[in-house]
Amino acid sequence: MRYVSTRGRAPVLDFPGVLLAGLAEDGGLYVPEVWPSFSAAEIRALRGLPYAELATRIIAPFVGNAMPRLSRLCEEAYAGFDHPAVVPLVQIESGLWIQELFHGPTLAFKDLALQLVGRMFEEVLGGERLTIVGATSGDTGAAAIEALKNRSGIAIAILHPEGRVSEAQRRQMTTAVSANVANIAIKGSFDDCQDLVKAMFADEGFRREMRLSAVNSINWARIAAQIPYYFAAGLALGAPEREVAFSVPTGNFGNVLAAWAAARMGLPVARLIVACNQNDILARFLAANDMSVRPVMPSLAPSMDIQVSSNFERLLFELLDRDPQAVERIMLGFRREGRMAVPPRAWTRMRTLFAGFALDDAGTEAEIGRLHRVSGYLADPHSAIGIAGARAAAGTLAPAVPIIAAATAHPAKFAPAVERASGVRPALPVRLAELYQRPEHCAVAGNDLVAVEGLVRALAERTAGLGIAA
Ligand SMILES: *Cc1c(COP(=O)(O)O)cnc(C)c1O
Repeated sequence: MRYVSTRGRAPVLDFPGVLLAGLAEDGGLYVPEVWPSFSAAEIRALRGLPYAELATRIIAPFVGNAMPRLSRLCEEAYAGFDHPAVVPLVQIESGLWIQELFHGPTLAFKDLALQLVGRMFEEVLGGERLTIVGATSGDTGAAAIEALKNRSGIAIAILHPEGRVSEAQRRQMTTAVSANVANIAIKGSFDDCQDLVKAMFADEGFRREMRLSAVNSINWARIAAQIPYYFAAGLALGAPEREVAFSVPTGNFGNVLAAWAAARMGLPVARLIVACNQNDILARFLAANDMSVRPVMPSLAPSMDIQVSSNFERLLFELLDRDPQAVERIMLGFRREGRMAVPPRAWTRMRTLFAGFALDDAGTEAEIGRLHRVSGYLADPHSAIGIAGARAAAGTLAPAVPIIAAATAHPAKFAPAVERASGVRPALPVRLAELYQRPEHCAVAGNDLVAVEGLVRALAERTAGLGIAA
């Protein structure tokens, strides 16, 4: 499989190439040159497979023959999950299911991709050095650190917005004991962190010197690794004979893009609900073709506190019939003016499958409380937003179409909000029981590229022992 950039001016790469490159050199994102597709018979043949094997089959076409040990890596990646189904479904109402994506080591859905992608990095590097930098609004950082700590040859620096991630999220990152890990708290928003990461990539000299790579959801490998659980849910509820719908709590648009990819590959999907918190730019866009940036408002669901959703560009590329010039024009305009409208045909096309939904903090608390009263289910704020989105959409779908709401984080990751809303304090799973006793390690920096590059360089040198730049 070969990969092209959404902006059309970066080299065409193979899977190991996009895995290591992260963002494309022209500022675009890598996408498969052609989409793999599965016939109904091929989808049917996946029914009942153990999750690791299903994942291997779905991911294999994206990897091509670049990774002979893919099946082994999937086995290892998902063996550390604490539920035998890996991504279990729980029915809470007639026609409404929750897919729990939080049974990995850091209790959020990011583990499903990163536990695999961390192993893929080590596999393709074969001992060569690499520096991973990433911005996190909470869960990516913890999952990336957990996936990459103590892996040979790899240094990892994670930027998070100071004071804007939950205490559990922060501690999962800052308590990692490994010399190849640096946490950097930035005085700013998640978008500032993401801009700093993009600026490091744009700094050609620094990028080469550090051999930079990314594990943000701009990395194609992560999206690929998120596609299988949509197939798993669909198959369990009757696909390919029956259509299904998904409601996905959305921030950077990576998870819902993976759902779209599953549909593009042949899974019959009736609707994709893009569920947002009060940072509702995508819901506003879906309602009125107006993607206009507003200041980020911190919410109870911090991993969705985003205004600029990087992965939207991948969908835009498809909506514009894969015209890279048109993508570049629109994206540069968006950067300049803080707003975009897409050609009416593209917008209409998007709305045939996608629907927006937004819920503010008060609504999120009410949903957590309601859910617990009615069904005894404890949801974290992100998951609750997805569940509310699913309930809101139920009436608009054919009665036979089951809706699956993605539960993206364990409630104990957001215990204070969950307790306030439901009266119940969710317990941390045993493996994280002493999270609040472990010492933290974290540097603090302003929204300042030079300072951050200095911290990353120091980490790379410390990790290499002898200096990565030689
Ligand atoms: C990352 C995250 C999201 C948002 O996912 P995207 O792929 O960025 O849209 C939602 N919920 C939780 C708990 C997350 O960690």
